[in-house]
Amino acid sequence: MRSLQTTCFMLAAVFAAPMLTAQEKGIDGRVRSAVKGAVPSLLSLYHDLHRHPEISFQEEKTGEKLAARLRALGFEVETKIGGFGVVGVFRNGAGPTVMLRTDTDALPIKEETGLPFASVETAVDEDGKTVPTMHACGHDMHMTIWSGAAKVLVAMKDAWSGTLVLIGQPAEERGMGATAMIRDGLFKRFPRPDWVFALHVDSELPAGRIGYREGYGMANVDSVDILVKGRGGHGAYPHKALDPVVIAAHIVVQIQTIVSREVPPHEAAVVTVGSIHGGTKHNIIPNEVKLQLTVRSYGDEPRRKLIDSIKRVARHVAQAQGAPDDLLPDVTMNDQFTPSTYNTPALVTPTVAAFRRVFGESAVTRLEPKTWGEDFGQYGRVEPRIPIFMYFLGAQAPEVFEKSLRVGAPLPGLHSSRFAPDAIPTLTTGVRAMVTAVLEQLGNDAKDR
Ligand SMILES: [Zn+2]
Ligand SMILES: [Zn+2]
Repeated sequence: MRSLQTTCFMLAAVFAAPMLTAQEKGIDGRVRSAVKGAVPSLLSLYHDLHRHPEISFQEEKTGEKLAARLRALGFEVETKIGGFGVVGVFRNGAGPTVMLRTDTDALPIKEETGLPFASVETAVDEDGKTVPTMHACGHDMHMTIWSGAAKVLVAMKDAWSGTLVLIGQPAEERGMGATAMIRDGLFKRFPRPDWVFALHVDSELPAGRIGYREGYGMANVDSVDILVKGRGGHGAYPHKALDPVVIAAHIVVQIQTIVSREVPPHEAAVVTVGSIHGGTKHNIIPNEVKLQLTVRSYGDEPRRKLIDSIKRVARHVAQAQGAPDDLLPDVTMNDQFTPSTYNTPALVTPTVAAFRRVFGESAVTRLEPKTWGEDFGQYGRVEPRIPIFMYFLGAQAPEVFEKSLRVGAPLPGLHSSRFAPDAIPTLTTGVRAMVTAVLEQLGNDAKDR
């Protein structure tokens, strides 16, 4: 005679089994098992990319590795687009076009992760200096996920129709690669996408989690230089000089009121003076002082207002100190500007709903807009505008993340020499999310899910 417990267990198994099978047979289940099967090959790509990073404008071998993977999957591939950019096209019948973007460059940082596949590479930078190199911003993980998504989508090509365009974008860390690819005919020489997706790893989320922000997700980033001019002289005779140190000091303080007094309280902006240099000695009033600022904002109009205010403050502060017209400060904008990333709400909403369905409600978090920047926003600024969405992917080992919350210890962030994503959960969640985002647009049968 069976015990009650055994009977209950068997009944549960009878009811649970068909449910599981249906789930596994559904699209989400197919994606999950395809991703699982791809892990060994993706890990070897990840280790290879991590071990051999290439800094901005030097991503040639990295581009070749990505191109080779796409070619092997049957993509038509072109390289050297806008520098060392890669474009792969996979046509799978009628339907819209989805573009997936990864960035490919690394940073001039000496790696200190202690990983067995840590980088020991160096490169010669544009100033002729030999620098260590490291994938400290997770672009190696982005490339691996991008390549994994291509593999899974090709394996599941019966489940969707349309065109996939995969781009490997160089020089993101310099904010110039997206523009270079667009100028080289990205949207003219290749199928123009209906939607563009990208992801960035997030050092402040545990692996397995996804973050997003609709609308402005990342900031405008401007680098501003102010050359404060004066008339140098002996420190003992300030009345005979025009002291640029004092003018610069007033500018630094006065600039702080732009955000606090001019930007509406519900809008966010940052004006940081990161560098101030002038003078050589105690008793010499120098001829000039140099200030370097980083300015962050969201939207074109708030950005224009901030820049105008900085110029106004610099000019009037100098005039208040008696500077004549020919000694007013020069305010110049560095051309490495990256525009804010505006995540199109009409694309974010269905994609986030799909992420919640696949990963569960609690795994998908709405985040505050980031004050860092990315040149991904450029793809959404070409007229006529294309909807774009960059989401964030948790990368910290969950136990490390929990511990840091408990003890309040900071985690190694992006651009840290110790930044090391928890590879397997980050990459499997990343590939599943990217494939899910594509299938949400191109999938044949939503009912199957
Ligand atoms: Zn970065
Ligand atoms: Zn990055």
